[in-house]
Amino acid sequence: MSKETFVTKEMIEKVVKAYPTPFHIYDEKGIRENAQAVKEAFSWNKGFKEYFAVKATPNPYLIQILKEYGCGCDCSSMTELMLSKAVGMEGKDIMFSSNETPAEEYAYAAKLGAIINLDDITHIDFLEGILGKLPETMSCRYNPGGVFTMSNGIMDNPGDSKYGFTKEQMFEGFRILKLKGVKNFGIHAFLASNTVTNEYYPLLAKQLFELAVQLKKETGVNIQFVNLSGGVGIPYQPGQDGNDIRAIGEGVRTVYEEVLEPAGMGDVSIYAEMGRFMMGPYGALVTKAIHEKHTYKEYIGVDACAVNLMRPAMYGAYHHITVLGKEKEACSYKYDVVGSLCENNDKFAVDRMCQRLKRVTFCLSMILVHTDFPWDIIIMEN
Ligand SMILES: *Cc1c(COP(=O)(O)O)cnc(C)c1O
Repeated sequence: MSKETFVTKEMIEKVVKAYPTPFHIYDEKGIRENAQAVKEAFSWNKGFKEYFAVKATPNPYLIQILKEYGCGCDCSSMTELMLSKAVGMEGKDIMFSSNETPAEEYAYAAKLGAIINLDDITHIDFLEGILGKLPETMSCRYNPGGVFTMSNGIMDNPGDSKYGFTKEQMFEGFRILKLKGVKNFGIHAFLASNTVTNEYYPLLAKQLFELAVQLKKETGVNIQFVNLSGGVGIPYQPGQDGNDIRAIGEGVRTVYEEVLEPAGMGDVSIYAEMGRFMMGPYGALVTKAIHEKHTYKEYIGVDACAVNLMRPAMYGAYHHITVLGKEKEACSYKYDVVGSLCENNDKFAVDRMCQRLKRVTFCLSMILVHTDFPWDIIIMEN
C-alpha cells in the first residue's frame, strides 16, 4: 500500500546535488499547518500552551518554527535546556519534565526560570537543598498505577512505569509544597504512548481534572494548569487513520466544562507536551539503495544505518518506505532493508513488501527519537 510523502523524486534529485545522502528532510509547510491546527483546537482555553517535547526532534531550526505558533519547550536534560535557551525560550516557556535529575540540571532549569515538574516526592527536599527556596510555581507528575484502558482495549501500563507520584503522594506533596511557600500548582501525567484515537486526551483530562478538583478541595492549593503531556500518536502504517486534533481539543473542552467549570476552576490552563504529533509526519530520512544482496533472503543495502534512525533497530518499529518515483507501482517484492553497522539489528525493515528496488534513492518516513546506547551499567553509591 502506498502512503503519500511530501517530496517527489524530482525534488530529491535536486537536493542531493547539494546535500549527499543520507539526510533528514522536513516539510515546513506541514509543520506550520499542524502547529496552527493545534493552536486553534485549544483556542477555547485562554492559557493553552504546547510545550514541544524537544527529545522528539532536537533541531533548533524546527523549534524556532514552532515558537512562532506560541509553543514552548519541554525538556528532560541539560542539553535540551541549553538548546531551548539558544533558540530564545525563556522562563515559563520552558517546562522541565525530567526524572532522576542531577542537581546541576535542576539548578540550571531554575536559573532559566523554567517550570519544574517534579517526578517524585523525595525531589521536594532535593530541590530545596539545591535552591534554598522553592520557585513560586511548581508541578508534580502523577502516576495512577494500574493499566490505562480505552474503548479499544488495554493501552498502556502506568503501574509498570518508573515515572510520577502515587495518588497519596500527590496530596502529601502538594501539602508540603504549600507549606514551603509554593503559590501556583500544576498536575502532569503521561499514561499512554502513541495513541492513535481521539479519546486519549479527553480520558486523561477527565482523570486529571477530577484529581485537580480533589487536590484543591483537600489541600487548598491554587491549581494553575493541567499538563496533558505527550502521547498523541501518528499513523505509521499506510491506510491507518490519524488523529483529528480538533476533535481532541473539543473532547477535552467537554470534560473541562463537565468537571472543572462547575468546581469554580474555569481559569485552569491546559498545557500539552506533544512531540511525535508535532514533527513525526513531517520528517523523512532520505537514503540511497547502494547494494542488492541475494543470499538466504533478499537484501537491499542502503547508505543510512541505525545511527540515522534508531527506532527500527531498538523497537522493531514500522517506518514506511517510499521508493521515489515508483509510488504508484505494486509492492510485489519482499526485502530486508539494511544498514552498514556490524550489528544484525541494523535493519530499517524486515520482510517488507516494496516496489522493485534497484540502486534508487528512496525515502523512509521517520521520527527521530533520542536514546542512549545500552552499554554495561555501572552504579556507584552517592
Ligand atoms: C517523550 C515525552 C513527551 C512527548 O511524547 P510524544 O509521545 O512524543 O508526544 C512529552 N513529555 C514527556 C515528559 C516525555 O518524556
